[in-house]
Amino acid sequence: MARQETPQDALGRLIEALRVLPGVGPKSAQRMAFYLLQHDRNGAALLAQSLGEAVETVGHCACCNTFSETPICITCSDDRRDPSLLCIVETPADQVMVEQTLSFKGNYFVLMGRISPLDGMGPNEIHFDRLLNRIEAPTAGIAVREVVLATNFTSEGEATAHYIGEVLKSKGIKVTRIARGIPVGGELEYVDAGTLARALMDRRSVS
Ligand SMILES: [Zn+2]
Repeated sequence: MARQETPQDALGRLIEALRVLPGVGPKSAQRMAFYLLQHDRNGAALLAQSLGEAVETVGHCACCNTFSETPICITCSDDRRDPSLLCIVETPADQVMVEQTLSFKGNYFVLMGRISPLDGMGPNEIHFDRLLNRIEAPTAGIAVREVVLATNFTSEGEATAHYIGEVLKSKGIKVTRIARGIPVGGELEYVDAGTLARALMDRRSVS
């Protein structure tokens, strides 16, 4: 979809700029601009300042590729974590979710996307070369012994996991995939058939 020419007036440029946000069309952008100028000029100034600062200072961690203000992020700098375990997620938000489980103490690699040929997203766009470098260069002398694929269970997430898994397995690296199944507290009667089918396929011995 072709963007209109940059408007001449400041209000027009603000409305056009707000349209970079996902899901924001011309009407919503106009509503946001009017709201900020009419009701919250301090908030608007703070937003402008924060955006400027973030764009200037936030880059990507050289190790795990997540957002970071330092060359190596806090998680990768934490020497209590196990660098032999590497969890691959699609986005920083997914990384936060895995962290909140308190059940993973390895390191991460954040793809910042997923393979999706229809959207022009291939191995280059998910920084696959950087992932391979990360795996092949031992951290503090410790090699990666297991890669946990924690991409989403969407068709793109599955394709991404499949692609990464195949390449890494061909290099002799142990690759695992997070399990699918019934949610904690879930009742079988209310679970969709696809989820129940996967749970049956991924069943394991009772220890
Ligand atoms: Zn990092």
